[in-house]
Amino acid sequence: MLIDRFGRKIEYLRISVTDRCNFKCIYCFTRQNWKWLPHKEILTFEELETIVKTAVKLGIKRIRLTGGEPLLRKNIDILIKKLTQIPEIIDLSLTTNGFFLEELGERLKDAGLKRVNISLDTLNKDKFKKLTGVSAFEKVLKSIDIALDLGFNPVKINTVVIRGFNEDEILELAKLTLEKPIEVRFIEFMPIGENSLWNEECVVTVREIKKILESFSKLIPEFSCSGGPAKVFRWKNAKGKIGLISPISEPFCYKCNRLRITADGRLRPCLFSDYEINLKPILREGKGTLEEAFFWALKIKPIKHNINFTLKPMRAIGG
Ligand code: SAM
Ligand code: SF4
Repeated sequence: MLIDRFGRKIEYLRISVTDRCNFKCIYCFTRQNWKWLPHKEILTFEELETIVKTAVKLGIKRIRLTGGEPLLRKNIDILIKKLTQIPEIIDLSLTTNGFFLEELGERLKDAGLKRVNISLDTLNKDKFKKLTGVSAFEKVLKSIDIALDLGFNPVKINTVVIRGFNEDEILELAKLTLEKPIEVRFIEFMPIGENSLWNEECVVTVREIKKILESFSKLIPEFSCSGGPAKVFRWKNAKGKIGLISPISEPFCYKCNRLRITADGRLRPCLFSDYEINLKPILREGKGTLEEAFFWALKIKPIKHNINFTLKPMRAIGG
């Protein structure tokens, strides 16, 4: 069992399968002179499978594949298929920018993936281009319907709210839930990766977001059994749900149940701390065991995060 010094039971592993991305979101891709990891530094599917097989023996039950853009990883469906065959995993999910879902969605479904999170921060085509560096608003918007048509369930939308950029779109984005059976999740903007854009004023707190949402219609709390950080609500008669995630204004560290693996094979106990355990010497040179690494991660997992800049951007850590 993975229980840390503070009694938190660790059951959830987020795996970054690549640091590469086809978007350059202003809040994620900010570091100057960043170099992509050389291919040989990135964990192979076999190595990831070995890590996951150890992790499940220790109590990990939920896995999320992320990145960078996970759908840029060649043959990602093969990894998904391998992971879905591990019986202890009760939940396998993937976070994507949606760009490749039209092309790859069916293969992901066939491989056994049941659910996806798609990131979408704006419904304005020009803002989308400004935010991501890519003219792909229609394609990403369409990917939501593609995911629904393919039967992914739930389909969640991740929206990072940044003051002065998209807080004026909160209602419009949330109104997608009136017609679509999706969960739109509003996430407070976090200071990750030498992010020159971030300052406290840029953070629109969930309290503010809730007020805006309730100006349209009262939010009805929904029961959530996932144990995740989102507080989930629904507007009366809406087909979908609304999630609120408050890493800044109301941190949920006390119930944090996760560890992360970076694309280059570092076990990272906390999103906001650059302390990591390098798994590659274990996997490639037989130095130590993965079990020891997991237990060491529990020892160094902090009780709570300090808001300071991590050295790595989100896409290198795995958001
Ligand atoms: N490329 C995929 C995507 O965009 O969905 C997966 C990786 S991305 C790093 C995962 C999530 O992290 C996205 O939903 C993104 O919006 C979020 N994210 C990135 N930087 C963030 C920040 N500074 N604060 C809050 N969320 C952030
Ligand atoms: Fe790429 Fe996702 Fe980061 Fe945007 S948030 S740059 S899509 S990894």
